Amino acid sequence: MKTRVTIYNEGVHEQTKENVRAIYPNGIHGALKEALETDEVSVSCYTLDTVNEITDEVLDNTDVMLWWGHARHAMVPDEVAARVRDAVLKGMGIVFLHSGHHSKPFRLLMGTSCNLTWRENGDMERLWVVNPAHPITQGLGRYFELPHVETYGEPFGIPEPDEVLFIGWYSGGEVFRSGCTFHRGNGRIFYFQPGHETFPIFYDENVRLVIRNAVKWAKPIYRVPELLCPHVKKPGEEE
Ligand code: ZN
Repeated sequence: MKTRVTIYNEGVHEQTKENVRAIYPNGIHGALKEALETDEVSVSCYTLDTVNEITDEVLDNTDVMLWWGHARHAMVPDEVAARVRDAVLKGMGIVFLHSGHHSKPFRLLMGTSCNLTWRENGDMERLWVVNPAHPITQGLGRYFELPHVETYGEPFGIPEPDEVLFIGWYSGGEVFRSGCTFHRGNGRIFYFQPGHETFPIFYDENVRLVIRNAVKWAKPIYRVPELLCPHVKKPGEEE
């Protein structure tokens, strides 16, 4: 069966900023879809305009979700954010990209501020592979570089990750936990730092490889249809 990917990209900057539209004429979601779609992977896309269409049915039929948001996190309805959180607890995988660190679903799943420090001056980022044995880092060298990014710095207000896969080092001097994994309930979560909208980062082959690997890694292994807390009988006394 195909891996079913659902992308949420806010899609506001592509409409309001000429320089962003020039880089992503089909939206950030369009570039991500192009990077992921194959005979084995199907991709559906939603933006802020269609965010209410991300129903339980859509999520039940999603193996892995990608989430990119920035300027309009607050306009994502709380019900949708709670639905995404519950889908992860049930077993759906999710990849949060770049400024998705402040999205409602990420904060719900982390339970912390998810704050960080940031600066936009076109620093270079060198992403060091901390764990070359992890499925998400396969096919990469010791590190890869992105010529221009938005700088994110520590402290990053997340709970201790299960694993830090990338340490980002910036030419401005900061370091950042640029790739982190978490488990919540039955679901797998990957946070990945690159992806600022004014740079063509989602066309970079290493970034695309990481996202493709992350989709494979985050696919559900065990999934339940509902979140229950059932009363049960003693072993041997079941009817
Ligand atoms: Zn950004």
